Amino acid sequence: MSFIAIDLDGTLLNGQNEISEENRNAIHYAQEQGFEVVISTGRAYFDVQTICKKAGISPCIIGTNGATIHSNDGKMLSSIPISKERVESILKWLDERDFYYEVFTDKAIYTLKKRREFFYHEIQQLKSADLDRDQKKIAAEAERQFDQFGFVLVENYPDILKQKEEVFNIVACSFNQKKLAEAWNRFDMIGELGVVSSADHNIEITNKGASKGNALEKMAFLMNVSLEQSMAIGDSNNDLSMFRKVGYSVAMENAKDDIKAVCTTTTLKNDENGVAHAIYQFMENFALQN
Ligand code: CA
Repeated sequence: MSFIAIDLDGTLLNGQNEISEENRNAIHYAQEQGFEVVISTGRAYFDVQTICKKAGISPCIIGTNGATIHSNDGKMLSSIPISKERVESILKWLDERDFYYEVFTDKAIYTLKKRREFFYHEIQQLKSADLDRDQKKIAAEAERQFDQFGFVLVENYPDILKQKEEVFNIVACSFNQKKLAEAWNRFDMIGELGVVSSADHNIEITNKGASKGNALEKMAFLMNVSLEQSMAIGDSNNDLSMFRKVGYSVAMENAKDDIKAVCTTTTLKNDENGVAHAIYQFMENFALQN
């Protein structure tokens, strides 16, 4: 058996944050042919479930960058939280530096009401300002943060620490690249944490043991699947760990050059049903080899 592991934002989702009919049909076809389709994303499980339900697909789900794994019938197979003490120190540090941040548990995405309003305002300003296309693209990508399902707005970060649920992922956002790099370096230095990014405006912090690649490896072990005969499709830094694990890696045309450079091949853009195109190509190659 083989996996077809697919990232969501910038990959399976188009510019309207939807799964196109072409992509949905390709996923159904792959499942009918016996491939195990896995959605692998930084988004929270409950958010992904809502998106998949709307599109009429039922894949396995690697959520919060590998910190959770769910089977396609909704059973949790694995979860790797960040320790309570570490969550507290991360939030304190981000809070003191006025970051906009989101804290992911298995029930909700907690965020500060005032910071959220400010960040939204910042995005709208960037979008309307006289900027080059790259900067406008960064602002448009940042707006995706607001498209997620399951937000709970709180007044301050101790309100988040009061919650009993375990924390799987913390996303910090800024349009100041220097500020973002400082946060990346700070948390990357801490042995028990892993830091990746899914777009130019964010960093995503998990337990070191959690990554899309590690999660896929764990699933391969549990389900007796060959990674060498599996495909992963994605567009950014947080997909690199799964690209390294599979025999056939696919970058989106809309990915940056350094992502394309490490992949087996490049497919069309997310707005051109790049996932469907990659699935059909993979299955054709697969049939020729087997
Ligand atoms: Ca992505």
